[in-house]
Amino acid sequence: MLYQRSSQLFIEAEKVIPGGVNSPVRAFKGVGGTPIFVKKAKGAYLYDEDDNQFIDYINSWGPMILGHAFEPVIEAITERAKLGTSFGTPTALETKIAALALEMVPNIDKIRFVNSGTEACMSAIRLARGYTKRDKIIKFAGCYHGHSDSFLIQAGSGASTFGIPNSPGVTSGTAQDTLLAQYNNIQNVMALFEANPNEIAAVIIEPVAGNMGCVPPKEGFLEQLRALCTANGTLLIFDEVMTGFRLARGGAQELYNITADIVCFGKVIGGGLPVGAFAGRNEIMNHLAPLGPVYQAGTLSGNPLAMAAGYAMLETLNTDREIYQRLEEKTAYLEKGMHKILTKNNVAYTINRVGSMISVHFDAQPVTDFDTAKAGDNAFFKTFFHNLLQSGIYIAPSAYETWFITDALTYDDLDTTLNAIDRATQNH
Ligand code: PMP
Repeated sequence: MLYQRSSQLFIEAEKVIPGGVNSPVRAFKGVGGTPIFVKKAKGAYLYDEDDNQFIDYINSWGPMILGHAFEPVIEAITERAKLGTSFGTPTALETKIAALALEMVPNIDKIRFVNSGTEACMSAIRLARGYTKRDKIIKFAGCYHGHSDSFLIQAGSGASTFGIPNSPGVTSGTAQDTLLAQYNNIQNVMALFEANPNEIAAVIIEPVAGNMGCVPPKEGFLEQLRALCTANGTLLIFDEVMTGFRLARGGAQELYNITADIVCFGKVIGGGLPVGAFAGRNEIMNHLAPLGPVYQAGTLSGNPLAMAAGYAMLETLNTDREIYQRLEEKTAYLEKGMHKILTKNNVAYTINRVGSMISVHFDAQPVTDFDTAKAGDNAFFKTFFHNLLQSGIYIAPSAYETWFITDALTYDDLDTTLNAIDRATQNH
């Protein structure tokens, strides 16, 4: 497979855009080589500027749960665009998608739409601080909640890929208010509560971590976290930017039967347009301006094109009663096939999976937190990645990312992928 045009485009991009990309992990820095420049996508496939076809396991980092250019979404955007693209006024569509989201997700009374997952998490933290009148938050090493200052402390995703656990530009004052715990370690969280009595506004967590590869919560961990938060008057924030509308109609809250106080959304909720949202009970959400004193705003928030795309996406997920079962079965098929191949080829590996989120870590020990995630064989990941790319399989260009399975994938696509994985690991 040749990437001539992509290489040329990257050279041109590097002259005018820092690193040639508008989001760091796209640059292939973690794996070396030139990023592919995508021309178009349909269903399970991406087509690059050199006219190569790839089976896509990134899916815009999660949103494309029904495949690329999903007809109802494209139609909704096209029709809506004819009516104007932004008004800066309320629209009927915003209420419609809000009501649908409330119907699908448990334990929330009100939802506010923003433009990205970063904004959703950033605003959720401000709301939690305003509501509790406390300053500190607890986050978990290896979890990523967007690039706002409070969260760039031992963050996963691109921050790990580039070895930038704590970004310059985050003031020490801000960093001091973010306390760090180890994922799946409840003793750790308890110790932080004990050392900071009545000071912790919120605990924010990816209920299934997806930014250090996929790392599921250990049995009982989320329950214990819920109990600790309740006992300490602290809000539990579920960052469901990845898990929301993916692991179940009602996200991780539904899957694990746990109530969060604030839930953050992104990715799937926007159908591929820039959308995020945060939601919670009335008593919390009513603290937001204009009802309450916690300020949060956005010129393009609730943008009609984004709301139209999001509504078309959520409506399909809400009405197709078999979709989550299909996603589970397809991902389980991939997992089973990978187990067989990687064992046959004597590869040291661990596969973590929850529903349609799956990742392979090249290390035999269980991966339960950021330290064990970092212990994987990154050098091997790089050759694995490039071998798959050559075979027309596009996975995330970093060992710290999750693969997102889409309903558009066929079992033939999965078999093609498994054959490529077999070839990529044979001479390990
Ligand atoms: N939270 C989680 C769990 C995420 O995975 C991401 C993005 N990967 C974000 C927040 C930030 O979302 P965005 O990139 O839309 O700002």
